[in-house]
Amino acid sequence: MTAGRRAELAANLDEVRRRIAVACAAAGRSADEVTLVAVTKTWPAADVRLLADLGVTDVGENRDQEARPKHDACADLALRWHFVGRLQRNKVRSVAGYADVIHSVDRPELVNSLAAAAGDGPERPIVLVQVSLDLPPTEGRGGAPPERVLALARRVSESGLRLGGLMAVAPMAEQPDAAFARLADIAAKLRADHPSATVLSAGMSGDLEAAIRHGATHVRIGTALLGRRAPRLG
Ligand SMILES: *Cc1c(COP(=O)(O)O)cnc(C)c1O
Repeated sequence: MTAGRRAELAANLDEVRRRIAVACAAAGRSADEVTLVAVTKTWPAADVRLLADLGVTDVGENRDQEARPKHDACADLALRWHFVGRLQRNKVRSVAGYADVIHSVDRPELVNSLAAAAGDGPERPIVLVQVSLDLPPTEGRGGAPPERVLALARRVSESGLRLGGLMAVAPMAEQPDAAFARLADIAAKLRADHPSATVLSAGMSGDLEAAIRHGATHVRIGTALLGRRAPRLG
């Protein structure tokens, strides 16, 4: 069972790494500019262990109630944990306790809670501002409207948090290239204000090539690595 799953994950990982390498070559970028974040939501801690053993260094989760026990079950592994889901204010303290990178800060009210929870030690998480690429921005999918991103980033940085850069999910109703081109534009403006905010988290199983063309430094891959997720039961 574990041997079979290990072989399956190894084959998927090879294929995802190959896709990243091909996309980087086509974009004239080096493959080590792109970090693979394995999005392990809905999959057990045993899969996280297998992926770590296969060389994965970064894992992503989108729900605190699932992420925290999984993180604790894997505390012996040297992994970076990424929180990529919608962040609720009442979960901020918990998430800040285990996440190395929080991808989904999209409104000012999260910033103060996060700054209070994260403290000012060197271990405090890196924070990304999530941008909505939906036209027009829609409630509920997460992400700040583009025109609010720079102000929100300034607020993150002035609150003493470590501003890492931006995150986005491609809209469902548009070609990802057009959306990621807008994201690249916002990322360039952000870097003009904050030169160290170089992270661009974009690209999932279906659109990692487009994201890499437009400068993604982190791709968040679930299905292509771990398989199709069962629908969540509530
Ligand atoms: C689930 C998820 C992913 C991974 O999506 P796949 O299409 O399964 O690769 C990436 N980013 C976020 C924010 C997610 O919630």
